[in-house]
Amino acid sequence: MDGIVLEYRDPLFGIITFFLLIFVISFLTYSFSLYKEKKARKEYRKLLKRFELGKLKEEDYVHLYKTYNLPFDSIVLLASTFIHKGEYNKAISVYIALLEHVTDKVKKEELLELLGTTYFKGGFMQRSRDIFLKILKFSPRNQEALRHLLIIYEKLKEYKKAYHVIESLDELQQDMQKDKIYIKALTILNDPILSFEKKSEELFELYKENKVVERLLIQYLLQFNKKAFWENVNQFNIQQIIDIMWYLNFDDIDFDVVARNRFLNELYNAKGYIQTLEHSDDFAFDILMLLHKHEHTVKADLNFDFICSSCKHTHPIFDSRCPHCHAILSFSAQHVLTKGFNETNQSLQ
Ligand SMILES: [Zn+2]
Repeated sequence: MDGIVLEYRDPLFGIITFFLLIFVISFLTYSFSLYKEKKARKEYRKLLKRFELGKLKEEDYVHLYKTYNLPFDSIVLLASTFIHKGEYNKAISVYIALLEHVTDKVKKEELLELLGTTYFKGGFMQRSRDIFLKILKFSPRNQEALRHLLIIYEKLKEYKKAYHVIESLDELQQDMQKDKIYIKALTILNDPILSFEKKSEELFELYKENKVVERLLIQYLLQFNKKAFWENVNQFNIQQIIDIMWYLNFDDIDFDVVARNRFLNELYNAKGYIQTLEHSDDFAFDILMLLHKHEHTVKADLNFDFICSSCKHTHPIFDSRCPHCHAILSFSAQHVLTKGFNETNQSLQ
């Protein structure tokens, strides 16, 4: 009998226990999911707040990509705000963090490109080089990588490697004529063994081939072979190097040659070195000549700007490669009349 009692279960009790159990479980699951959702929302709000304040951290970007499935392009666009603010290190951290989570090959290449160009902009040439070399290993026709690598080798003065890159771009049907001449000129200029005469000779040969290296040749001649400069001055486009001529030392000027060159004659009259002309068609020169004639201390001077013929940006100092668009020897000098520095010293009188 005892056995029967022990084995006896009220079926209703069983059913109630069963449903109670289901209820408890589903209640717990529901509460847990509510808690989870609340937590996620809180995190999301925090993230949003940081985004509004522009204070997203590197891991937030990974979070946005992985957890919130924000499209890859949007994440990259967000990270680019760091670059616009000049905070290259932050952009670099984001790209590196994302690289660990991105598996798609195309996206990976895009991220590596961004990383390479950001290192480049930040001035980390060696790191930038390593990244672009890494890209070229699996994508040897990546022109973005090749073009950056060319400039990096140029900056690192590794001209042989730069020339190899030019040849690769050549094979991709890119017009590399100007790049070739330019790198050849830099190779000659930086050759530690060539004599001064040999360098002048080889630079002249290059110049005959392509006039684009004119300024490099002139700069070299004025530093190491002034005689050759003045002998050949009439074949150069002097207007293009007006800034160099303006700041030339008095003792380095061959005034016999100047007397026979109309532009230089006007320029040095304007500078006040000679007084052989009454007027100039150039407004700034004309004013300066007049001032020199009537005043003892001239309170005006010339100032120079350089306009890139490729991107049209103006730069205050000359650069053989445009810092903005990387075009080669694309600057042309423009002169403007400015107040001379004597002005401030004498204004108290
Ligand atoms: Zn430019």
